[in-house]
Amino acid sequence: MSDISTQLIHHPYQPPAGFESVQPGVYKASTVIFPTVAALRQRDWKHKTGYTYGLHGTPTTFTLEERIATLEGGTFCTLVPSGLAAVVLVGMALLKAGDEVLIPDNAYGPNKAFAQHELAAWGVTLRLYDAMSPADLAGKLSGNTRLVWLEAPGSITLEFPDLPALVAAVKAYGQPHKDGVVVALDNTWGAGIAFNAFDLGADISVQALTKYPSGGADVLMGSVVTRSEALHHLVHFCHMRVGYGVSGNDAELVLRGLDTISLRYAAQDEATRVLAIWLQQQAQVEAVLHPAISGSPGHEVWKRDCSAAACLLSVVFKPDFSQAAVDRFCDSLRLFKLGYSWAGPMSLCAPYDVPAIRSMPWPWKGGLVRFSIGLEAVTDLQADLSQALASMQYS
Ligand SMILES: *Cc1c(COP(=O)(O)O)cnc(C)c1O
Repeated sequence: MSDISTQLIHHPYQPPAGFESVQPGVYKASTVIFPTVAALRQRDWKHKTGYTYGLHGTPTTFTLEERIATLEGGTFCTLVPSGLAAVVLVGMALLKAGDEVLIPDNAYGPNKAFAQHELAAWGVTLRLYDAMSPADLAGKLSGNTRLVWLEAPGSITLEFPDLPALVAAVKAYGQPHKDGVVVALDNTWGAGIAFNAFDLGADISVQALTKYPSGGADVLMGSVVTRSEALHHLVHFCHMRVGYGVSGNDAELVLRGLDTISLRYAAQDEATRVLAIWLQQQAQVEAVLHPAISGSPGHEVWKRDCSAAACLLSVVFKPDFSQAAVDRFCDSLRLFKLGYSWAGPMSLCAPYDVPAIRSMPWPWKGGLVRFSIGLEAVTDLQADLSQALASMQYS
């Protein structure tokens, strides 16, 4: 071993045995070295009996998979590079030409867009249903329905659906798809904390780990969790074929975030409810949408099924305020920054044109702004909202 470049690569360093730290080590790999040809042939990446290649997992990603499965009350977990990739992976793993997928009209928009573009091109039919009506879902099931998405609450508009009733409508359907019907929940809002997806009847729980599990607004990742090993294998083998691996550094960020997820969820829940109740009393506000607020759609179901609520609230302004006035309100905020995503340390907001993103009727006429409440002092956030509301009056 003469050349310095060879010596630098084949260095004698071994990680210290007996070194115990609070955080797990971060392992990064494309290549994983096998000691012998026999070992190379024997290790089975499909069943995680050993390490074979970075794309198929490292000690760091296996650790995160176990913790996310625990958080969700599930058994098996697959990590993917974003929350949207988790939604897409479920569709790719389960659907084939001739199948139908049902998605709530108020679902996370890119879930619908993937179905309208890629899935449609692959011969899969999308049917949108009203998440607040189990009867509407029941009427849209057919013998071709293979996948039913649930989301609680609706994206942007935050209606909380009756998950057990929606699941019951699916299970009661008389002539199911010959391969069965799979119920998948986008559980990003509940995060494994507000309710247990599997106890409420989901077969698959998907999360954008980008949101609460990370909590830092600095990493993108998603997860697909199941209790069924057969379903896990469908998802996981597809994952390996499409190459949706995640990096050790990103997994480390989510592992760090998980240590404080319960505390952050509770603190942001409390602050969000304080601001939701205060906003309800403001003259400019027509309605506050938040599942824990009485009168918000699905509030009674939320109370029955959930022990907490996330950091999202939406405000519908009185219709006398023009969109320009609503935009001025958003531009006048100082602590709340304009931006997408949520569950990070910084409070965010964004205006949405709801009729443009849903096909079913929307009862409100005024503009809507969705807020993500961060970890700032609630009194400062309230003062910021107050000065921005005052700016609306000059319309
Ligand atoms: C953010 C979000 C996603 C997608 O997560 P990304 O990591 O941004 O791709 C999916 N579903 C819901 C409900 C979300 O809020």
